[in-house]
Amino acid sequence: MKAEIITIGDELLNGQVVDTNSAWIAKHLGALHIPVVHITSISDKERAIQQALRQAEARADVIMMTGGLGPTRDDVTKAAVAAYFSTTLVHDPAVLAHVKDIFQRSGRTNMPAINIGQAEVLANATVLFNDVGTAPGMAVERDGKYFAFLPGVPFEMKFLLENRVLPALRNTYKSEVFVYNSYVVTVGIGESYLAEQIAAIEDALPPFITLAYLPKIGLVRLRFTAEGTDMETLERETEAFKQQVVARVKDHVVAVDNRSFEEVLVQTFTETGVTLSTAESCTGGAISAQITAVPGASQMFQGAAVTYSNQSKIDVLGVSPDTLARYGAVSEPTGKEMAEGAKRVFHTDYAIATSGIAGPGGGTDTKAVGTVCIAVAGKSETLVKTFHFKNDRAINIERTVMAALTTLWKMFQEEQ
Ligand code: ATP
Repeated sequence: MKAEIITIGDELLNGQVVDTNSAWIAKHLGALHIPVVHITSISDKERAIQQALRQAEARADVIMMTGGLGPTRDDVTKAAVAAYFSTTLVHDPAVLAHVKDIFQRSGRTNMPAINIGQAEVLANATVLFNDVGTAPGMAVERDGKYFAFLPGVPFEMKFLLENRVLPALRNTYKSEVFVYNSYVVTVGIGESYLAEQIAAIEDALPPFITLAYLPKIGLVRLRFTAEGTDMETLERETEAFKQQVVARVKDHVVAVDNRSFEEVLVQTFTETGVTLSTAESCTGGAISAQITAVPGASQMFQGAAVTYSNQSKIDVLGVSPDTLARYGAVSEPTGKEMAEGAKRVFHTDYAIATSGIAGPGGGTDTKAVGTVCIAVAGKSETLVKTFHFKNDRAINIERTVMAALTTLWKMFQEEQ
């Protein structure tokens, strides 16, 4: 059982809109053990739609198409698909009543006539009733293949996929091949060093287990994927190899599941009852933004001070004017006082401080662009390190965030 996704819209091809629909659909089909073998983005043209459908029907059993179901002239999907299936569009009174109801409920009494077209559906389709929008989805089954036509608007697509498509697939399109995924998240070790360390384990993987490296700045996520007919065997074999990897690089492992590093930090700090604050100069609040993006962060995260100027470092964090005058804002003594100041001001167990030159301007002969001091004040000591990143502003900031969180994580592990 294989799936293919086709997303429609000129805006996807000219870079105006990023195709997030495919990623979302692929993830949910994956959970049903229906692997996606092709993802295509095409323009709002009848010929392109029909050609993509022809190719997809030859390659896959489940075909998902999003976009172009609306009432405007550039929405040509329904007509193109009707021609593809050699069928017609028919009027569905229930859909029209629903569209009218949506207009009425939002206080718009004069519904534009073009919206009547929303009630036109493929004669050979099951209507996927859209509770959250005006464009209905449609499902067609032909020669054992399942086609779903969904609106492009992400929240409408998600509603229909979750409430109409996935339940139908779950009931009728049972996969005889299972896919088992398992993850290891590492920090503080580059992709190639990691590969070197686990080469022997990787070489011993059987053909039904593959290992993918998914690197980001400062972090590598390893994904084991096993495919086969017996889920128990897949899980047992994969976990045995995964345990070997974890044992081999244990100092770098932060998670043995698919969580983000921030989620791991927030959840672990919350479980252990420890608290965190930040004093951010060059990161401008980026660390606290990442931490507070995790639901439930309020228990462990107490506050952040974005102290960009020297004066604010003095006033808010109690950094000594002498330290600033003698060593400068980007220095280990200043970083140390910032972290200890945040820990005191916010009454936390841990505090992170960052001070650096993100660039492109601001570098000097002694402190080049990319020089960053990171301090972490912990329960018993304050660690301070100077890093020399050599990238552009955005990447220097991202590297600083990851280095700060990694330093925090290591100190926390040691202090536990
Ligand atoms: P509606 O009738 O609700 O407008 P539609 O099927 O006609 O639905 P489109 O006009 O194709 O939808 O797209 C509507 C909006 O949805 C686009 O402007 C775009 O912002 C977003 N969108 C479309 N396709 C995608 C996609 N693949 N990924 C993310 N966003 C998308």
